[in-house]
Amino acid sequence: SRALEDRPTRIRVDLDALSHNLDRIRRHVGVPVMGIVKANGYGHGLLRTALHLQAQGIEQLGVAFVEEGVALRRAGITVPILVLGGIFGDQVTQFLAHDLEITVSSVDKLGQVEATAAAMGRPATVHLKIDTGMERIGVHSYSAGPFIEAAVASRWCRIKGVYSHLACADDPDSPMTTLQLERFLDACRHFERLGAPMPIRHIANSGGVLHFRDTWLDMVRPGILMYGVRPDVTALATVDVRPAMSLLSKVIYFKVVKAGNPVSYGATWAPEYDTRVVTIPIGYGDGYPRALSSRGEVLVRGRRFPIVGRVCMDQLMVDIGGYSAWNEDEAVLVGTQGAERISMEALAARAGMIPYELLVGLTDRIPRTYV
Ligand code: PLP
Repeated sequence: SRALEDRPTRIRVDLDALSHNLDRIRRHVGVPVMGIVKANGYGHGLLRTALHLQAQGIEQLGVAFVEEGVALRRAGITVPILVLGGIFGDQVTQFLAHDLEITVSSVDKLGQVEATAAAMGRPATVHLKIDTGMERIGVHSYSAGPFIEAAVASRWCRIKGVYSHLACADDPDSPMTTLQLERFLDACRHFERLGAPMPIRHIANSGGVLHFRDTWLDMVRPGILMYGVRPDVTALATVDVRPAMSLLSKVIYFKVVKAGNPVSYGATWAPEYDTRVVTIPIGYGDGYPRALSSRGEVLVRGRRFPIVGRVCMDQLMVDIGGYSAWNEDEAVLVGTQGAERISMEALAARAGMIPYELLVGLTDRIPRTYV
């Protein structure tokens, strides 16, 4: 709505950064990319992100739920879309009606997809999910034989892919990734044993793309890295990506707070000396973490200043000490101003969160602008 668009607080998404990141990931891995756009495109906006990636010629998109896939189809996305989550209730009809690729995670689900596809007279495109150590969804690799055999024998399921998900790929030293990859490749051998064509094998998330070359196989599935954010603040930058998102606001109030006068709820902080404090209209109602009370930092006039007192639902206060600021001055919560930068990774770490959590927690109340 107009009222929300007039808010000084906004998320700015740099679409060029998204293209740049996709390009760098492609060059790095040399295999097709399934861009993961679930959870509102990791906070960047589901439709705009997907349309932009489609315009860049991305081979495939991945979402978590069928509803996200349907929204993409309604917005005119024509590239293949895999729904990574499960099938609930009688959703198979929706998958088929909207040409969405189905994750099949058990022999029972395979039967359900087969029966619905036969009844609708429409073949289903499926990716078989193998569990190699995440214990989330999928058939355990050690019992994948009968599952793959049943899928190969099915009349209405076209097996486009076979995949698994890595639990520890953000840690380059974890032995778990090699173990999971071995289990996955073992499971894939059932296709050879059955004399069936090998489908597209995919297992690498952003951590795999960054740290484990052997996991790239036939396709990679990066999410967070495509948005220019590393899975963890300590992750090495083996791919040259740029953050696509900036979180911006403006100074809306300026005052002097006298020594000893507490600021914000709970009166948890008060200045030792008279100081200048500005108010910024963003709070935990926007997904700005309350855990950053007296811990976060904000850039104003090219300098870094501390958040003081508790983060409120819609506002927070920043101590600018002896400096001055004016109403309408730009405040950067995540992004660059002058020579200073606040990264999503560092801010999340300060809040005791992972960058994923911070990104997807930014609410719809913040208007997104695309440049
Ligand atoms: N593949 C699957 C199955 C996922 O669930 C996810 C996200 O959690 C991804 C790929 C992308 O992960 P990341 O954002 O770490 O690249």
